Amino acid sequence: MGRHRRSTAAVTGLVVAAAMAAAYFMGRSDERAGRPFSLVKPAQAAETPTISPVKARPRDFYAPNSEDLRPDEMRLIACGTGMPTARPKQAASCWLLELGNGDKFVFDVGTGSAERIAAMQIPYNFLDKVFLSHLHTDHFGDLDALFVGGALAGRQKPLRVWGPSGDTPERGTKYALDHLFKALTWDLDGRKGITDPRGYQPFDVTEFDYKAVNGIVYQENGVTIRSIPAIHSLDGPVSFIVEWNGLKFVFGGDTYPNKWYAKYAKGADLAIHECFIAVPDMIDKFQFTPQSALAVGTQIHTAPEAYGKMMSIIKPRMAVAYHFFKDFDTTASINDRIRTTYDGPLSLSEDYMVWNITKDDIRVRMAIVDEDVWPPPATEKPQLPDPTVRIPYSDMIAGGRYDMKDVIQPTYDEINKKYGLDEKQE
Ligand SMILES: [Zn+2]
Ligand SMILES: [Zn+2]
Repeated sequence: MGRHRRSTAAVTGLVVAAAMAAAYFMGRSDERAGRPFSLVKPAQAAETPTISPVKARPRDFYAPNSEDLRPDEMRLIACGTGMPTARPKQAASCWLLELGNGDKFVFDVGTGSAERIAAMQIPYNFLDKVFLSHLHTDHFGDLDALFVGGALAGRQKPLRVWGPSGDTPERGTKYALDHLFKALTWDLDGRKGITDPRGYQPFDVTEFDYKAVNGIVYQENGVTIRSIPAIHSLDGPVSFIVEWNGLKFVFGGDTYPNKWYAKYAKGADLAIHECFIAVPDMIDKFQFTPQSALAVGTQIHTAPEAYGKMMSIIKPRMAVAYHFFKDFDTTASINDRIRTTYDGPLSLSEDYMVWNITKDDIRVRMAIVDEDVWPPPATEKPQLPDPTVRIPYSDMIAGGRYDMKDVIQPTYDEINKKYGLDEKQE
């Protein structure tokens, strides 16, 4: 009998366990339906209260061009988080900020970042405002790609660029961009009379005083952007503070920790600040001498411990660190060092990290991108170029054409028929 009782007890126990499990899962379902926790979109969660073997579950990644931006929402996308040394995994500094009012801003456009911007599938007419923290190539080295490639893909207006002055005119943004434009003479001359010319006009540069402390550099459409000085390499670098709709976003360019950031970045909803590779990794993996690793890693830039100290001062709702190679064997060291001085919310950023920011919530995800992306639709019809402004080949070069008319003519016939044209070969 004792044995029988024991087995009854065992069976009862199983039933109780099953009931508890059911209650547990029901509880979880209710929780999913009612509480907007960070990885599940509340609206979608409410529609899928139970897990189904045939229905899709909410995604926990960001697919570009697949989500509306709410009127009160900011979306920030890391389009470059790395270093001056190019590598496939991380482009150099570039941050795309999208606001619910439709405005979009690019902060820095470092080497390799133009392809990350392209992956976001945003029509290029909306990508006409660039803010540069300073003129190191890892912060503006892909400006030419955004300028020329963007115009080719549908930016039908000048590219507007805001950047700091220098301690001499030659070290200012205007000088750099005037000369970048000159360096593109052959590129731009070669497009005359062939493509819509509107995007290829000279950069529309607004150079502001790098010494201005919390001075307004941009104010349109309810958005105010201010600059504060930074301490990095030479006089000139700055950081930016964006305020819109009661939200505050801070983009810190390269700097030794400075008093202006400590004061004016305080209480930001999201604060980006550079955080350099730990000195031992600079020596071991980057082949720096100990002397230059110490100088670059702690004096020209911000060491991880100093980054943490700064974040403990300004206390943002979300702290974002960048400017280090984020690998399996470097991330722990960065994190450990930051955590000696800061225990608040932290994103160790990498390319394609995405933040959705509202007054109630900050959601952090990764974007999954289509590497086969083509240009997004242009917002306006292209303007036909004036063929008379085309610069001709010399007789010598033109005379070197091999006769291909017979094999090309079918393409002319096909396109003329399809679009009702009468285009002829040169
Ligand atoms: Zn720099
Ligand atoms: Zn840098």
